[in-house]
Amino acid sequence: MAKFYITTPIYYVNDAPHIGHAYTTVTADAIARWHRLLGDQVLFLTGTDEHGLKVARAAERQGMDPKSWADKTSKRFLEAWELLSISNDDFIRTTEPRHYATVQRFLQAVYDNGYITKGTWTGLYCVDCEDYYTEAQLVEGNCPVHARPVEVVEEENYFFKLSLFTEQLLDWYDHHPQAVLPSSKANEAISFIRQGLQDISITRTSFKWGVPVPWDNEHVFYVWYDALINYVTAISYGVDQDNFNQWWPAVHHLIGKEILRFHCVWWPAMCMAAGIAPPGHVFVHGWLLVGGEKMAKSKLNQITPAELVEQFGVDAVRYHLLRDTPLGSDGDFSYEAMLSRYNADLANNLGNLLSRVTAVVTSKCGGVGPSPNPDSELASVTDQVLEQALGAWDNFAPYEALDVTWKLIKETNAYLEANEPWRMEPSDSLDKVMGDALEALRIVALLIFPAMPSTSVTLWRRIGLEGSPANARLPESARWGGYPGGLPIQRSEPLFPRIK
Ligand SMILES: [Zn+2]
Repeated sequence: MAKFYITTPIYYVNDAPHIGHAYTTVTADAIARWHRLLGDQVLFLTGTDEHGLKVARAAERQGMDPKSWADKTSKRFLEAWELLSISNDDFIRTTEPRHYATVQRFLQAVYDNGYITKGTWTGLYCVDCEDYYTEAQLVEGNCPVHARPVEVVEEENYFFKLSLFTEQLLDWYDHHPQAVLPSSKANEAISFIRQGLQDISITRTSFKWGVPVPWDNEHVFYVWYDALINYVTAISYGVDQDNFNQWWPAVHHLIGKEILRFHCVWWPAMCMAAGIAPPGHVFVHGWLLVGGEKMAKSKLNQITPAELVEQFGVDAVRYHLLRDTPLGSDGDFSYEAMLSRYNADLANNLGNLLSRVTAVVTSKCGGVGPSPNPDSELASVTDQVLEQALGAWDNFAPYEALDVTWKLIKETNAYLEANEPWRMEPSDSLDKVMGDALEALRIVALLIFPAMPSTSVTLWRRIGLEGSPANARLPESARWGGYPGGLPIQRSEPLFPRIK
């Protein structure tokens, strides 16, 4: 059985879950669900990042200890993912004992391999980014991301000798041209490496809220170094080598473009330094902008998944996030676009198709679905759509997979309009038309499952099928001719009532 390991970034507990987080997580979820349909053994990991000065300060402001604060805020992400039908196999928190042990084991290996030294660091630090900037990177003296003043920090730290990995990283990318996608993002990483890398400070003594450095208890690891290691904590790095080897390095990291440097420069170098292979696949998606700006805690443009789910329902939200923008590009979220997509694609195209089919089968076929015609003109459309969907999911292109699926829905509606079964008398010809439409709906149910799992199940049941589309095996199950006929059809309220 093929293995498929997919990760989201772990989300910072100080943030409240917004649709930017939902965008990444729903995308990873849909890809994970697609791979389960293919019969792969999937490991889908998400979680929360809980260390660092920002968390310690937020906890202090609330009069809480950092762990209790993290317990409270981490839960919001769990709740948001439950609301959005996220099917993660594991949820990692960086305050868990398994993670502390892994971080210490991993960085001890880097230290023992001679890639960590002591030095003095003076830096311009943005607390919100948990990141350092050079004078040249500041915008009018402020953090380029948050437009807020940075702090001058000086302390004795341990440094990771990143500078030693410049050639090794370039060589690695040379031999793994597909490791970072889209290729424009690989080029961004490579040109950053080509400028020459500097050693980076990876520990702190100025606060305690982090994983203790095993060889020097005065220090804790800087939050980014502990966070990245979550990806190997979950697959028992250093504990169960067989399990580790099953998932690594064939991992798929799905990340936003703002953390490209961490995942495509630092993290592969850390892996090399620890003596393991760099991550095999990093897919860098664009931002979901609102009114042209990135959502951030400090701005007022956050939209919560809960607000949208309340208005549109879970599957419509998932569908819109996946369908609105090709994954590598920036998207601009708007309520108006979501509403119009809902009415056009879900209420009119998909919802209407199901209503028409169940209405005609109820009134003219005695409520029993006929079997499809093996030579239907819809069969070749379906074959083509299936091939395209397979390719699209494989390329991390849910946008395209759903686009071709809607082509099948539209073709089926057009087929009904051409044949006008609602004007036909009960006959073999009527049965053929309705059997074809039911078969198309069965295949649509399978193809939309990764994006809209509960709609898929509803559709499946309404056309009389038993079990769940989740138990189907693609591509075989989605080939033309699988609808058996003779099944009771349920006529019921619209799948997606129009919203004004
Ligand atoms: Zn900042």
